[in-house]
Amino acid sequence: MRIFSKGFNFNQDGPGNRLVYHLQGCNMRCIWCSNPEGMSLDGGEEYTVLEMLDECIRSKLMFFSGGGVTFTGGEATVQYSELQELIKLLKSENIHTCIETNGTSKGLTELLQYIDYLIMDFKHYDSRTLEKYTGIGNDTVKMNYESNCKTGRQQHIRIPLINGINTDDPNGFAEYFSRFDTKNTVFEFLSYHEYGRQKWKGEYKVKNGFVPSETLEKFKETFMAYNLNLITT
Ligand code: SF4
Repeated sequence: MRIFSKGFNFNQDGPGNRLVYHLQGCNMRCIWCSNPEGMSLDGGEEYTVLEMLDECIRSKLMFFSGGGVTFTGGEATVQYSELQELIKLLKSENIHTCIETNGTSKGLTELLQYIDYLIMDFKHYDSRTLEKYTGIGNDTVKMNYESNCKTGRQQHIRIPLINGINTDDPNGFAEYFSRFDTKNTVFEFLSYHEYGRQKWKGEYKVKNGFVPSETLEKFKETFMAYNLNLITT
């Protein structure tokens, strides 16, 4: 598997203290991406599945407060077969697993059998707008969201808010989400930041992405009015 960064954090990428692997490669091209070095499939460092399993087993004592291992990216599902093999092995070792994904994998449902905690991005309810800014529409993201609502599995939906790109219509998001059973779903807003700006080699196309506090408040109020569960991490 190709990894471009790894390290521990607490309660940011899933519950408890976690070993977080950033897997190389992403199928999207979000213009605000804060890890552009993870987009290409080239780069990073190569590890075998067994080398990673061994590192996770050796880290078990660090997985306190309900922690474990998180796979993010880039987009973790781009290296699907190796990821599946590794998470199956982690489950056989009773290690808590989490995936943070852009939700575009048709194989996500299959993978979720071995995932304890799912974090899924939902960047826009309108497919054409999403495609304009990321290169991919949201048919599969919606399919995955709806499927999780139907099966009642836990899901943590993260909505990155970028001023002028997806902040005009909180109602559009909330109305869509609330069409389905969200009793096991929590929603989190991530306000735009510019941590990735310096890492972009080409033109950085977001001009004024910072989200005014009133906009964030409006999103929170709207989601609460629709009885959607909000969290912050
Ligand atoms: S899905 Fe995430 S990693 Fe991929 S381009 Fe978008 S922000 Fe970057």
